[in-house]
Amino acid sequence: MEHTEQCEEDRVRIEKVREEYVKQWPNYCRRCNGWGGFGSTYDPSPAGVSLGSGSMEDFDPCPDCGEKNLCSRCGWGVDFSNAIETCPHCGAKFMGAIGIPRHECYCYEIEAQNMIDKAEDAFERMREADAKVSRC
Ligand SMILES: [Zn+2]
Ligand SMILES: [Zn+2]
Ligand SMILES: [Zn+2]
Repeated sequence: MEHTEQCEEDRVRIEKVREEYVKQWPNYCRRCNGWGGFGSTYDPSPAGVSLGSGSMEDFDPCPDCGEKNLCSRCGWGVDFSNAIETCPHCGAKFMGAIGIPRHECYCYEIEAQNMIDKAEDAFERMREADAKVSRC
């Protein structure tokens, strides 16, 4: 299937961010991509833009880092029970955007939408054709 230009652009941008991230933090947590957990509410701002405060409610700590008291970005041991907010090793702010941004691809939805549109158009044309025939 085809991806939109915007989608391709986002993908390339995020791929660059990811490459830099991996270079800088080779020990980042692969499971959560450095986020420290999994939030069900994500910031709707465009990909690559940092998350605003309060945008990651419903945040489940990642079993591979957050739950093991490890920094999700550098893998350093951090005592989260101490209400620590910044990694003493890499300076990651745990309430901020410290992970690799996700690439959200909606092209499948767009394509599905287009297919529905086309199908509806086809039905519409069929109905029009039928109407013409019955009038004759
Ligand atoms: Zn993790
Ligand atoms: Zn760290
Ligand atoms: Zn896409």
